[in-house]
Amino acid sequence: MDESPPIYDTHVHIMSDDLVREWQAMGIPFSKAAAYYADIDTILNYLGANKVDLIGMGYVYGNPEFYQGSDAYQRLRQENDYLHAAAKQYPKRVRPFFAIDPLKDYAMKELRRCVDFDTKKGLKMHFSASGVYLTVPEHLAKVRPIFRYAAEQQLPILLHFDNWHPKFGPRDMNILVDSILQDIPAVELRIAHFGTSGGFNDKTRRFLDESVRLFEAQKIPERHQIWFDISAVALDKDSEGVTKLSTADFENLKTYIQKLGVDKVVFGTDYPLYRAREYYNILKEKVGLSEAEMNTILENSN
Ligand SMILES: [Zn+2]
Repeated sequence: MDESPPIYDTHVHIMSDDLVREWQAMGIPFSKAAAYYADIDTILNYLGANKVDLIGMGYVYGNPEFYQGSDAYQRLRQENDYLHAAAKQYPKRVRPFFAIDPLKDYAMKELRRCVDFDTKKGLKMHFSASGVYLTVPEHLAKVRPIFRYAAEQQLPILLHFDNWHPKFGPRDMNILVDSILQDIPAVELRIAHFGTSGGFNDKTRRFLDESVRLFEAQKIPERHQIWFDISAVALDKDSEGVTKLSTADFENLKTYIQKLGVDKVVFGTDYPLYRAREYYNILKEKVGLSEAEMNTILENSN
């Protein structure tokens, strides 16, 4: 009965067994067996997507709240190696997004190392986990060459932009556009979770309003491909302290998707948060996107 098109899920997490164990030891709850987080076969089977971008999480080792050891770089490498090994098993279905912490001295070294891997690939950065504030000139100076290098290497970037600063939002987007995107070659940039950290709230709306304004004012160089990743936005359950959407929020989200334009939205589940079909159905039934809109979003993701 299910005639919907194949699903390319652009936001699927994997972590090594070591990382799962360390998080468990820190008291972070895992509702399923380790294989659901660490084993590529289990992930693909359970997720139920045809193709995936597999997102590394090695940047957590650069965050002293999570890891205090002196071998953070070594651990990041191991995590990226683990991701590469998993992706290599399914070269046609899986594209790995290697993680770096852009503020670390070894960031560029690790990025260059990952670029040499013999798989398709992308880059993941997490500005909250890595404490990156583009408003800080030293941070901007470190992030800029990474964007440039990714553009030169034609590496798509998945950016968790929200750094949890109370004023995060429009000004950060403006710095990204004016001080990074303005003078680098064409890059494919996906902004995770519609710009914030999951859910759909005033902060997300402010971010999207400003993004729409920048597009309309033609401030974003047209050579770039900018996507908004809808993963973890349309929450129908509370997740990691993020509140689920009310009926009114779901309706409002639909308005925002249309304002932004479905042609700028890509599909992602933020697995293990959701399985592919589960999240597809939420977007269709709870957000109320039409078949045609869903098809566009899935085609964008491909
Ligand atoms: Zn994620």
